[in-house]
Amino acid sequence: MNSKTKIPKVKVLATGGTIANKIDKDVGGGVPTLTGEDLIESIPDVETLADVHVEQVLNVGSHLLSPNDILKVRNKCRESLNDGFDGIVVTIGTATMAEYAYMLSITLDTDRPVVLTGAMRNISLLGADGIRNLADAIRLAGSRQEFNLGVVVCMQGEIFHPHDVNKIHAQKTEAFGSSFGPLGVILPGRIVMYRKPLMNQYIPVESLTKRVEIIVAEEGGDGSLLDFASEKADGLVLVGFPPGNVSPGMNKAIEKALLQGVPIVLVHRAIGGVLNQGFHSDGGPEAQLLGAGALPGGSLTAAKARLKLMLALSYTQDKGELRKLFQNY
Ligand code: ASP
Repeated sequence: MNSKTKIPKVKVLATGGTIANKIDKDVGGGVPTLTGEDLIESIPDVETLADVHVEQVLNVGSHLLSPNDILKVRNKCRESLNDGFDGIVVTIGTATMAEYAYMLSITLDTDRPVVLTGAMRNISLLGADGIRNLADAIRLAGSRQEFNLGVVVCMQGEIFHPHDVNKIHAQKTEAFGSSFGPLGVILPGRIVMYRKPLMNQYIPVESLTKRVEIIVAEEGGDGSLLDFASEKADGLVLVGFPPGNVSPGMNKAIEKALLQGVPIVLVHRAIGGVLNQGFHSDGGPEAQLLGAGALPGGSLTAAKARLKLMLALSYTQDKGELRKLFQNY
């Protein structure tokens, strides 16, 4: 976009999800039927929002997308940004939207808007939300010069930072939220931005080479599953009791794995708040684990911390570098 009066050029990368589904009575449920082009054609006066170019990357439910597929989407985003698009919309299923938005945000070095959106109700259902969400996302993607956003999620008229957005409901159309709140809102006539994203990070990775597994702290857990996982994986994410500690058995297993050199990221299972670093008078078991070399997962969910550790380990094996990547996030 060369001047304020010129219409923005927006790329839509379509990958599937409920936004692309129609109910097929023979199958008895939603089937990915609609292409990105079909969706764009359903938006009234879309040409007044942006000069939209569509690329169909895939057409599948987001549970079928792998982290490697998302690196391919990242590459398509890069190409489109290099080709001069003002912003990008990625349509994707909501099941893994928050996690893959985060993955895109830390593998794409841009301040142009890359907006992930989708739908909770497919187009065959009353109250279908996909076309509205897509129209909002296109408007946001065309707002480059105003907001310098980078990757965000846009659902139900709200704009979320990928670091802290989560799918918080399995059925409601208001399915996305953040304990830090939205960055802004999309109103009928304008976009209002309340906050600017600061939690931005870039890990330059071209391919994923490492296996990371998630282990969840169990009340009274003896740590045997953790022992098993630390033999198999290149790294682990440990989901502690909020604000981040674990049972004595699991504590021992973590210490053992750390001594063996297995990178472990600690997170906690509450939906809000940051991993504790020094709350208890003795420092607390989680602080001791961090002292023993565990990496702090900050306020990331386990799923996002896993994707981040997969990327981080594909980028570097150096313990100091890994610590830097996790310390302040
Ligand atoms: N199953 C869908 C998916 O692809 C759910 C959705 O899009 O809402 O994630």
